[in-house]
Formats: sequence, C-alpha cells, structure tokens
Amino acid sequence: MKELFAIFGNPVHHSKSPLMHNLAFKRVGFDGCYTRWLIEDGDTLKESFFALGLKGANITVPHKEAAFHAADAVEDFAAEVQAVNTLVLRDGKLYGYNTDAPGFYRALEKLGSVKKALVIGAGGTARALSLYLRSKGVEIEAVNRSAHRLEWFESEGFKSHTWESFVADEYDVVINTTSAGLEDDSLPMPKELLDEALLKTKYAVDVIYGKRTPFLKEAIRLDLPNFDGSQMLLWQGILAFDLFTQHRYSLEEIESAMTPFLSL
Ligand code: NDP
Repeated sequence: MKELFAIFGNPVHHSKSPLMHNLAFKRVGFDGCYTRWLIEDGDTLKESFFALGLKGANITVPHKEAAFHAADAVEDFAAEVQAVNTLVLRDGKLYGYNTDAPGFYRALEKLGSVKKALVIGAGGTARALSLYLRSKGVEIEAVNRSAHRLEWFESEGFKSHTWESFVADEYDVVINTTSAGLEDDSLPMPKELLDEALLKTKYAVDVIYGKRTPFLKEAIRLDLPNFDGSQMLLWQGILAFDLFTQHRYSLEEIESAMTPFLSL
C-alpha cells in the first residue's frame, strides 16, 4: 500500500521537499507519495499528521520546536537542540529526529577533513551546527554582528567574537549561517574582516540556497572549494528518506536517487 509523507510549515508552498522525495521514491521504486501541508498553529501538528494518515513528515519553519513537543520520543541530538525536522510513525508512536545538522556534516565531509570551523552568525542554525560539529570533534569559533546572541556560545564554552574583537585564525572551513545576502546584497561581516578569514581557510560554505550570495561570490573569487545551502537541504532530505524507508536503501543509493532534483 502506498505510504504517505508530507512537509509541514508556514509558508510551505515554496518547499522543495516534495520534489526531492517523490523523485527519490520513483527512482528507488518505493511506493510512496509526499505532499506539502500548511500548518498555521503548531499545536495542531500531531492531529494533522494522524488525520492525513502519514507515515512520516518533515517540519520546517516555524514549527520545529512544536514538532519536538509533538513527538513521543526524540533522538539525542534533536532533544539537545529542542528542534525536530523529521517525524516517523512506528508502532503507533511518533519518533522525532533532526537531520539538518547531521545532513550538513555529511555534505561537509565530502569537501575534506575538517578540524576547525569559523561559524559566522549566532542564530538557531549556527547553534545547531556548532553543537553537532563539536560532537564530531570539530573546534568551533563563532563571530556575530551583535553581542547578545553570543552569550549562548560563551555559556556553551565556544570561543566567540563580535566584529570588533575578531581576529582571524587558521580554519578548515568558514560557514555563513547568517541570512545576510538572502534578500539583499550584503556580506555577513565587513569585507576586510571576511577576507581576512577567507584567506586563512581551505573551504567556504553557505547555508543559503537558491542564489549565489555575496559571501559565496567572495569565496569563489578567492578560488575556495565551496558549496551552498542546497547541499544541506539535499543531505537533510537523504537522512530523512533513510528514516522514512526504515534503512531499506544505502545512503549512496538514496543520494544517487535524490541528487538530480538539484538540477530540476
Ligand atoms: P536566525 O534569525 O536565528 O539568525 C540569523 C543570524 O544572521 C543572526 O546571527 C543575525 O545576526 C545574522 N544576520 C542577519 N542579517 C545579517 C546581516 N545583514 N549581516 C550580518 N549578520 C546578519 O536565522 P536562522 O539561524 O534560523 O537561519 C539563518 C539562515 O539559514 C537563513 O538564511 C536560512 O534560510 C538558512 N537555513 C538554511 C537551511 C538549509 O537547509 N540550507 C536550513 C535552515 C536554515 P544578529 O544576531 O546580529 O541579528
């Protein structure tokens, strides 16, 4: 029998997840169908999941915290960040996972070995990536425009700077987690500081996708191996698909079935 899946969010019309998952279902021969579903009130998420008869769901902005509360059981990393982006139904119970940062790490590993990272930005994405990368042995430094969001980094024992106190070290990767460049043409930090960091790193990575940001343009100008947020999107999807299909396929099979969505 066909198994049903959905992405929950608000807004959700722009989501690429149905395209990614339906393409991969078709290419691996799994009898599944994936749709998008607008959820306005996060408290109704669980009810919608069961009313739609889903086997699994992805959750996007702004409902990842609501999904964390909706789950009956939550894996360790999702519990640590209190954000769930994947729900899977097993034996009548909802299991919650977070594949965003693990997906990002899978994409990062493809660039090469990473031991030290500079994270630009201090929002939700920066926090999740920093915790996960540290759990994989990566040393993290954070730099942010304003000081108040850096308090969390300090309390977690990460080295952190505002633009004023920042002096670049040697890094393996510089990661832009800010939304600078998403809807405007700004760099995530003043150009001279950014160049100082980019001249001391092997790779540069952006979490924004759908456009080449000024940050990525600068990395490309400096000839750095790089990727944008579409890789994070792809890999969170690959790991979610693996959970949806109960590890029936290897990650390599899922990767090759799902990757072509990037050029659709
Ligand atoms: P938050 O709102 O939690 O944090 C935003 C961060 O960006 C803050 O540190 C903020 O600094 C900084 N910032 C915003 N504008 C500027 C600017 N003009 N110059 C410098 N710094 C700026 O956002 P999220 O962490 O939720 O999301 C960040 C980005 O990650 C978004 O662009 C989102 O699209 C992307 N994303 C991509 C995913 C993917 O799958 N590829 C998944 C999840 C997110 P300050 O504290 O000073 O305000």
